[in-house]
Amino acid sequence: MKYDYDLFVIGGGSGGVRASRMAAMTGARVALAEEWRMGGTCVIRGCIPKKLFVYASQFSENVKDAAGYGWDFGDAKFDWPTLIANKDREIARLEGLYAKNVAAAGVTVFADRAVFEDEHTLLLLNAGKRVTAEKILIATGNTPTREFGTSHIIPGGELCITSNEAFNLKELPRRVLVAGGGYIALEFAHIFHGLGSHVSLVYRGDKPLRGFDNDMRDALCTSMQTRGLDVMLGCEFTKIEKFGDCLYAETNKGDVIECDQILLAIGRQPNTNALQVHKAGVELGRKGEVKVDGYSRTSAPHIWAVGDVTDRMQLTPVAIHEAMCFVETAFKNNPTRPDHNHVPSAVFTTPELASVGMTEEKALGLGHSIDVYKSTFRPLLHTLGGREVRTLMKLVVDAPSGQVLGCHIFGDHAAEIVQAAAIALNLEATKADFDRTVALHPTAAEELVTMRTKSYSKTP
Ligand code: NDP
Repeated sequence: MKYDYDLFVIGGGSGGVRASRMAAMTGARVALAEEWRMGGTCVIRGCIPKKLFVYASQFSENVKDAAGYGWDFGDAKFDWPTLIANKDREIARLEGLYAKNVAAAGVTVFADRAVFEDEHTLLLLNAGKRVTAEKILIATGNTPTREFGTSHIIPGGELCITSNEAFNLKELPRRVLVAGGGYIALEFAHIFHGLGSHVSLVYRGDKPLRGFDNDMRDALCTSMQTRGLDVMLGCEFTKIEKFGDCLYAETNKGDVIECDQILLAIGRQPNTNALQVHKAGVELGRKGEVKVDGYSRTSAPHIWAVGDVTDRMQLTPVAIHEAMCFVETAFKNNPTRPDHNHVPSAVFTTPELASVGMTEEKALGLGHSIDVYKSTFRPLLHTLGGREVRTLMKLVVDAPSGQVLGCHIFGDHAAEIVQAAAIALNLEATKADFDRTVALHPTAAEELVTMRTKSYSKTP
């Protein structure tokens, strides 16, 4: 045989693992290199540990709500080392499952870093071994950036942590500054707040979560302020210093904020730095992302890339979907383009913000005349719980056809509801389809099928 393997996958995260298993199941000879732990960002220091932290952070409010229902738990206490140890145990278990499933599919796994030597040859750095493959898949993911950009270098930036370190801090910081206004910043701000830290969110824009529906962003900002998070908008660091155990962040507004940890959540950069892809003729984009066509093929026809390293949509299910499409295209003679439409996503704040489909702005930008249906209400739980919590739901509908273009929810269980709504949007359901669906009472989700009165209409 001309090559050692039919497929060599670089990276053992969501995309790489799925692609290697599915390709091996077609009978292909597949190998995979992972230099650290199987499972990638999602399992080891992303979605899964994050969601466990989110659960941990919500018990304090649940205990408060319980009082309205007659419960008294006495003095509730939280122990950070217990959470970390239990989280680590669960992550190790999941990592083991990933490794087992890959091996069971017949994939050869190298615990090593692979770099390109030429178009078909990879060097495994620790082993000093060369391997060749007919096809290669780059699935190396991305990593939190510490760079504020070349125009904006912050003295003391190295004193900050990123989400990677936040998962393994020795102790819960009493005062945390979170920089950024995206998924990670918002999620960690709520996690630390729920666990008892004083949290300030420092964001350069006018409201967090750029790209999300504006009403949802406003609702989130109001909710954060009501909960007691300090939201500092139009704010950027100019200098960070450390004296003793404390950090001092100077901002463009002239404040100096004292805190115990500063978490940078200002985006992620593709892991392509040390791959030496130029030796294989693979082109990178401006941010260092691997450039791919609609089928995830790079500028070298036998080399492909999926997941965060391509900087298309940085979401685990999207990486898995791209991996499945890659295997269809490259190993099953069934060219399949990943579909990046109607991808639901959720920001796991408390409560959650979830959405699928178009925002008002996006729909108008694409030339749709729209009808908008909105509903805001106090969830039943909180009537006895007593806290001032509100849910906001919104449907964006194409006026002429009635097709539901977007569904946006800020409220408890928003992610669970939006996952189901995504099926309806995929089926191109109309508002009339939503209306003739019988409600499930009493739920929050029933609002989606009982919003009869249009809130307003807009034309492009
Ligand atoms: P995002 O791209 O979502 O957000 C980055 C944030 O940092 C933005 O608010 C951006 O501001 C701000 N920012 C960027 N550069 C600077 C700078 N130089 N100075 C100050 N602020 C800056 O990145 P995240 O790191 O939060 O997450 C990365 C990706 O991971 C997400 O896009 C998402 O796809 C994925 N993810 C998904 C999760 C989920 O599904 N629940 C959870 C976590 C991550 P501005 O808006 O002004 O550009």
